[in-house]
Amino acid sequence: MSYHQAEYDEPLIKDMKSGTTYRTPGDDLEDSPVPESLLRESLDLPDVAEFDVVRHYTRLSQMNYGVDIGMYPLGSCTMKYNPKFADQISAMGEFSELHPFQEEGDIQGALMVMFELQHALIKISDMDAITLQPLAGAQGEYTGILIAKKYLEATGQLDKRREIIVPDSAHGTNPASASMAGFDVVEIPSNGDGTVNLEALDAALSGNTAVFMITNPNTLGIFEGHIEKVAKLVHDAGAVLYYDGANLNAIMGKTSPGLMGFDIVHFNLHKTFATPHGGGGPGSGPVAVKGFLRDYLPVPIIGKEGDRYFLDYSMPHSIGKVAPYFGSFAMHLRAWAYITYHGADGLTRNTERAVLNTNYLASKLKDTFSIPFSPLKKHELVLSTENTGKRALEIAKYLLDDGIHPPTVYFPLIVHEDMMIEPTESVSKRDLDFYAEAMKRAAKVDEDELKKHPLNLPVKRIDEVRAARQLVLKWS
Ligand SMILES: *Cc1c(COP(=O)(O)O)cnc(C)c1O
Repeated sequence: MSYHQAEYDEPLIKDMKSGTTYRTPGDDLEDSPVPESLLRESLDLPDVAEFDVVRHYTRLSQMNYGVDIGMYPLGSCTMKYNPKFADQISAMGEFSELHPFQEEGDIQGALMVMFELQHALIKISDMDAITLQPLAGAQGEYTGILIAKKYLEATGQLDKRREIIVPDSAHGTNPASASMAGFDVVEIPSNGDGTVNLEALDAALSGNTAVFMITNPNTLGIFEGHIEKVAKLVHDAGAVLYYDGANLNAIMGKTSPGLMGFDIVHFNLHKTFATPHGGGGPGSGPVAVKGFLRDYLPVPIIGKEGDRYFLDYSMPHSIGKVAPYFGSFAMHLRAWAYITYHGADGLTRNTERAVLNTNYLASKLKDTFSIPFSPLKKHELVLSTENTGKRALEIAKYLLDDGIHPPTVYFPLIVHEDMMIEPTESVSKRDLDFYAEAMKRAAKVDEDELKKHPLNLPVKRIDEVRAARQLVLKWS
């Protein structure tokens, strides 16, 4: 199947001018309720009619790729389909027209949703208390580390405990969060099977350790079978154990960070709980803690007394607010809808489907590519293209012409020429077969031919290094 993305010579919206006097309701702001004294004389907005705005963004969307177009197995990111019923619920006027400063008594429904989401996430993770405020997984990590820091400070340990340990397979945000919070980062090597090396961990732990951060299953899609030993080592050293919850989709309903012995965990609602990512988001990264850390959570959390929901400010050592108002409320609504719809059994089945899909794909690809470490995966698999003589990047570019979003490439850093594939539960066997065939076909194409791809995209090869180094994020 060949694929052609739409290609338009689309100008920037600021350079567009409709040149028409045709108007639709809403273009005419003569009846603006804003008092005259507050109106601006002029505002540098493009003079574009509604139909041109709609067409502009529709055309851009046709040049783009997203979870509504096809499978998007970007490993580590859990890019699952975002169900439309959750969007509809979050768009309901009863929610979307609320103001965060309304009286508690006026927003009981919204508080109820957040309270129930808090409760569900606490149950899923087997933790004791939670904040919904953080706006991304990375901000959740940072919030969690600040909570640990404040706890260490309050218990007189912060002067000594200045180190945060991370495995070499960790997501880059882990050491970044640790470092931003003012800690020294200590990296430890993984075992030959990709899991935490207990001797290396034991050797790194000391009275200087503040936190050990880890995700389970790890970024290779492999479950850390020794996690209880890890927890014991960390706690015996007096340190705090942090769970990077980005891989929760692999274990939800089966086990939990609380059962494994973790003290702090962040969730990525835009991963596990099917809310949109990034530009379509924003994200949401709630943080749950064990009881001894409750007093340090950001304020307020949502409490319930009798039938009444209220803003609970009772955390005496709170680290303060980490986001405006309640965080990404529209994402809380979507995640609450997703959890409520699926229920405990449905969430567990989704975990099983995600794991099954990954292992099915692994079984289809294992004769073409090398799959390092354990052959049995959880929710994602890491393979290497090295044995094919082709570079992971070249294969990824080739896939684009099949209308396929390529997997993550070159992460985690401990495997050469790697591709990290996470199909998620919301992918059919037909799509998995198509994906596997495209990958296998790509492996047979010769290098010079591969380098010509993508042929059918509005943007062809880009200068990857320049794109990463010279960020131009706004037009001015
Ligand atoms: C996505 C991810 C993060 C960071 O989460 P964001 O929501 O993208 O900020 C952290 N760790 C792992 C393993 C991830 O996959």
